[in-house]
Amino acid sequence: MPYLLGIDIGTSGTKTLICDHKGQVKATAVAGHDIRSPQPGWSEQDPAQWWSATIKATAQVVRKAKVKPKQITGIGLSGQMHGLVCLGDDGPEAAAPLRPAILWNDQRTMRQCAELEKAAGGRRKLIEATGNPALTGFTAPKILWVRKHEKQIWAKTKHVLLPKDYIRFRMTGEYATEVGDASGTSLLDVKRRQWNRQLLGRLGIDPSLLPRVYESHEVSGVLNRQAAEALGLAEGTPVVGGSGDQPAGAVGNGVVTAGVASATLGTSGVVFVHSDTPVHDPRGRVHTMCSAVAGQWCVFGCMLSAGGALQWFRNTLGQHEARQDKRKGVDPYGMLIDEAAQSPIGCEGLLFLPYLTGERCPHADPLARGGWVGLTTRHTRNDMIRALLEGVTFGMNDAVQIIQSMGLNIDTVRLSGGGARSKFWRQMQADVYGAPTAVINADEGPAYGVAILAGVGTGVWRDVPEACAAVIHEVERLTPDANAAKRYARSYRQYKRLYPALKDEFGRMAKL
Ligand code: ADP
Repeated sequence: MPYLLGIDIGTSGTKTLICDHKGQVKATAVAGHDIRSPQPGWSEQDPAQWWSATIKATAQVVRKAKVKPKQITGIGLSGQMHGLVCLGDDGPEAAAPLRPAILWNDQRTMRQCAELEKAAGGRRKLIEATGNPALTGFTAPKILWVRKHEKQIWAKTKHVLLPKDYIRFRMTGEYATEVGDASGTSLLDVKRRQWNRQLLGRLGIDPSLLPRVYESHEVSGVLNRQAAEALGLAEGTPVVGGSGDQPAGAVGNGVVTAGVASATLGTSGVVFVHSDTPVHDPRGRVHTMCSAVAGQWCVFGCMLSAGGALQWFRNTLGQHEARQDKRKGVDPYGMLIDEAAQSPIGCEGLLFLPYLTGERCPHADPLARGGWVGLTTRHTRNDMIRALLEGVTFGMNDAVQIIQSMGLNIDTVRLSGGGARSKFWRQMQADVYGAPTAVINADEGPAYGVAILAGVGTGVWRDVPEACAAVIHEVERLTPDANAAKRYARSYRQYKRLYPALKDEFGRMAKL
């Protein structure tokens, strides 16, 4: 039986997954990475560690799935987006990057973001040209930073690559990327799906430094002998473009046709929708990127503290529940949510702002703060927990609203992440978003998505929507309750007024 291999170079580790040509997952494995922060706000990793983790997690997954190297007919790559890897011209044998990779969550490039916007002719022009505003985490400002602050390294740099594309290079010797990850560089013309030569010219970045751009399902190279030996796989195995973790995760969730969206409540929260047109938000509150479906796009917004807010509550105010977890193996989140369910919708006028780590979407404001507003002596802990869940869901709904205001339809929202384990929270999401929600049969995320892409690129399926329709299906569907939706809408309107009223105060409080 033939199989597909997906490899996801995440931030905390590399995950591998093997599935068969029917999309049945046979095994997964993980090998960890370290993050270093040599200065406050900096975040770096050693790409050599990604490669050794890839070798380790591949050997493990092959062993667990009990497959022979020759049975793996295609490989897909996914990874943390936006990272910068600088390479000289030594070829795949030497392959040592010139400096550690600078990661997506690195904050050193404030000045370079301003420079990037200026070069593009202003913020709006940059959003028009690349689908997104200048963000410190994106790749282009990192390139400008290395050029300015590490002149010797920049002089030796002959190739810049994204994290997963460094692994591609180690596997195939090709300097290549694909449209999804390239969308997170601030250098791609997202509408035309090619490097933006005009912007590169204005920034003085030589286009020959950048890798060739493929569509996500296209074969970008084959495993060379050296890599095949290191990985225990067969020489010549095709490696497809793959995608950055967000678009790749969308394939893993089957969010690949217009009208289908996903809401992921992990530590952060992401609302993601597929689009057959390259629309962008002129204010840059949500990202527009190339989808892993050839010639199509995706739009998504990211709130920073979603499940993270509930985790904070568990750690600080829910110690009793956390102890139950240790003693009796009871899920502390389940206990907290049972308490919340005792409180009525709207929590008798209590609201929660979820900006515990600043915010990104809808308010790009690192100084935003969280908190309950409207406490009275009538309120109980139940109300406080419910208000927290409602506040997080309202924050997600802000992204839903922005996306809908761009003219994109949302017919169904597929739910995933830790928050989707709770039926109470799933129903709350349906009621607040005002759209049916669904849970699907797959929860392996980006590694599964790129295994599917490998199948599409090697002829197992004709295209990505066909592949997803064949392997992914809904296992639960909840519809909004009209009465509940009306009551939530009232609270949501009040919630929306709080941030603008408090914004300036948050700024002042940050100075205290
Ligand atoms: P990460 O983003 O770190 O990968 P997960 O997707 O596993 O995390 O989500 C973790 C979050 O999911 C927790 O912080 C918590 O808010 C939420 N969570 C975990 N278990 C449950 C549960 N049973 N019910 C509701 N929420 C949960």
